[in-house]
Amino acid sequence: MKNLKYLFLLLWTASLFSLSGCRTNPVTGKKELNFMSEQKEIALGKESDPAIVASYGLYQDEKMQKFIDEKGQEMARISHRPHLNYEFKILDSPVVNAFAVPGGYVYFTRGIMAHFNNEAEFAGVLGHEIGHITARHSAKQYSKQMLGQVGLIAGVVLSPGVRSNFQQIQQGMGLLFLKFGRDAESQSDMLGVEYSTEVGYDSEYMAGFFKTLSRMREGTESESIPTFMSTHPDPGDRFNNVKQLTEKEQAKYPAKQFAVERDDYLRMIDGLVYGEDPKGGYVENNRFYHPVMKFQFAIPNGWRTANSPTQFQMAEPNGKAMMALTLAQGATLEEAAQNFISQNKLTLVSSENGNVNGYQAIALVADQTNAQDASQSIRILNYIINYDGMLLQIYGVAQASTFAGFRNSFKATMQSFDKLTDLSKINVKPKRIRIKPVNRAGTLTSVLQGFGINTSAGKREHAILNGMELTDRLTSGTLIKIIE
Ligand SMILES: [Zn+2]
Repeated sequence: MKNLKYLFLLLWTASLFSLSGCRTNPVTGKKELNFMSEQKEIALGKESDPAIVASYGLYQDEKMQKFIDEKGQEMARISHRPHLNYEFKILDSPVVNAFAVPGGYVYFTRGIMAHFNNEAEFAGVLGHEIGHITARHSAKQYSKQMLGQVGLIAGVVLSPGVRSNFQQIQQGMGLLFLKFGRDAESQSDMLGVEYSTEVGYDSEYMAGFFKTLSRMREGTESESIPTFMSTHPDPGDRFNNVKQLTEKEQAKYPAKQFAVERDDYLRMIDGLVYGEDPKGGYVENNRFYHPVMKFQFAIPNGWRTANSPTQFQMAEPNGKAMMALTLAQGATLEEAAQNFISQNKLTLVSSENGNVNGYQAIALVADQTNAQDASQSIRILNYIINYDGMLLQIYGVAQASTFAGFRNSFKATMQSFDKLTDLSKINVKPKRIRIKPVNRAGTLTSVLQGFGINTSAGKREHAILNGMELTDRLTSGTLIKIIE
């Protein structure tokens, strides 16, 4: 199965390799091999952007989107490649990350926006990401990356046929976890310092943000989801490097005052959604709930899950089988079944009309045979369900040879699909960050207790989120983030 996955990635990335030549690096001025042309970079960015936005959704907050765009455009203008058409977006993802795509596309997650404590930290990371574009790291690393990363669920069964449904999502997910080498990271840190200093921010705060990130990683939150730290390999003593670079860079502007803008930043993120947003569906005790579309179903024990605006995926722990819930395409069950077969180039094995908890459904079994290698053939069970006029499908995929062993797990999930009426599951609200002034001076611990945060895990989470230590003393009136 693994080979197949790599084959598809190879095919997909082959086009990236074809246009390499010797070109000048805009940052170093040196001739370098293996750049793709600027045209190709721009085309790649343009092509990836809709997939990324579809995978994660944009975070719905006009003032924050305006903020990242304004700051981004300002910094892009003073960068080494000011002529590119840059786009800066905040994605609706709780993952703490930021990444850049060739051609001028920069994405920050709402998760990373929640963890900045001032504009200077944000500006440092912004400069770092713009640096990946101007130094053309993405162009060099992109292809390698696509070979190494296949989305959130590592080892998910992928085949050329079901790819049509997955390709976009996989591209998007792979990009969120884009990984550069240490040299590229060092250079981007340097450019982050340079660019943010030039637009007037104190880049030393960028070093402080690395501390926040490493504290998160040490955490017990068991980050199964990669974050900025894991996708940005530590280029050595990053913290001290940035401090030294800052000193050097700031010395170039002896008369300049460098901005931090803590309060402005915090006021801007007041109300920011924190952690998973349940409105797009959530998992609780091995059940998936969709509070907006109002349905639910059971998830096999121990399976890993990943949710996105376009699909909910479940993967068997060893990656030998997967299931996904998506919207079916068609006006009727029959049409949706035909579309599923034809779009994925499948051979129908059996099809059965029935119902799932009172909802009309078609259960079909189909094969995708691999003529070259029979062991790579896959079998799919798909339940297409007419849920009050909305056609949904839950399908399970496994190698044809192991399919029988997963059939019951697939069926159990599909047949558990049902209406959601439990108001306690429907009326779930996301956590939000609220910005509050400290009423009475004291240590962060005592201040947090004043806001009703008494558990040690809660205190620790707030300390990291605020970029503070629990023993730090706060004066009255200081703004802090409280999770509500
Ligand atoms: Zn980086």
